[in-house]
Amino acid sequence: MLVRLRKGLVPDQIETILALSRELGYAARFLDADRLLLELEGTGQPQDRSLLEDLAGVAEVLSTGDARELHQTSPGASPTEVRAGEARFGAGKVSLIAGPCAVEDEQALLHIARGVRARGATLLRGGAYKPRTSPYSFQGLGRPALEMLARVRAEVGIGVVTEVLDTRDVEAVAEVADMIQIGARSMASSPLLLEVGRTMKPVLLKRGFGATVREFLMAAEFILSTGNEQVVLCERGVRSFDDCTRNLLDVGAVAFLARETHLPVIVDPSHSAGRSELVRAVARAGMAAGADGLIIEVHPRPEETHSDGQQAISLNELGRIRRDAEAIANMDEATFVIPADQTSTPEPAL
Ligand code: PEP
Ligand code: MN
Repeated sequence: MLVRLRKGLVPDQIETILALSRELGYAARFLDADRLLLELEGTGQPQDRSLLEDLAGVAEVLSTGDARELHQTSPGASPTEVRAGEARFGAGKVSLIAGPCAVEDEQALLHIARGVRARGATLLRGGAYKPRTSPYSFQGLGRPALEMLARVRAEVGIGVVTEVLDTRDVEAVAEVADMIQIGARSMASSPLLLEVGRTMKPVLLKRGFGATVREFLMAAEFILSTGNEQVVLCERGVRSFDDCTRNLLDVGAVAFLARETHLPVIVDPSHSAGRSELVRAVARAGMAAGADGLIIEVHPRPEETHSDGQQAISLNELGRIRRDAEAIANMDEATFVIPADQTSTPEPAL
């Protein structure tokens, strides 16, 4: 049996739960450092479940027969809506995240932030810390880029999503970010997943390019085990034998995840397509598979960027993708969330 405890319990309340578990004949052990998930081993009696559920400190009891993991949908339960800045993901809400791959120049960032917001994006993306394949490539500007993000955020009034690679930077990133990104290369780093989870900030978790869907879900489970339920999953393409696109967008996984988990799922057509001219079509495919949003790399002068210029799209192309996303969301009776001071102007998705 698994017992999920409420957050913020005092030691006496935890002791009450442990004492009752012992009294009922179970061996109890916490599965996480934050002592929110308690595993009870023993045969027990059918009534034990409700005895435990009656305790004020217990959020829910999962019996072994239906021992659900935290990411799983349960009959009758509503899907999780994740909120970051003005963005809303899941439970019938679709949001757009857009911005440069990396934060490089404050004036360019300001221009992009205004441009993407005007085209319906509710979160600005941009990496201060860049996970690169080669140690000799541009690694991101680090702290100065976080400061630029903070100033642009204040100036434009748009929330920020930015990646953290190292547990030592989590605090600094959490100060600036409305949503913290864990990238494909870090998906399997459990210390990072736990550290980011504990900030209680919304988390954007990207699927590793060689990770199975099960491994992806278990990475999400690490974050959820901290008591942080604000997790958005992001399918960004997996490695395939072919190189006509940078990665292969796994639309089947998007459809599967939309059923299997109560967490929102978004699609990154930029890192999957890897080529600006394919981004719009791949974005449409992701939305059609049931995504709750998109994260897209935008740059008006891609030739000047140090990372991922070949997949950056123009602001005008972003406008077209936004119209597609809104139309597809509406077909699915979902709402495309726009910045508060804008009015929706749905146009044909052609
Ligand atoms: C990114 O979003 O810029 C990024 C590096 O993505 P991924 O982790 O999916 O490769
Ligand atoms: Mn990138």
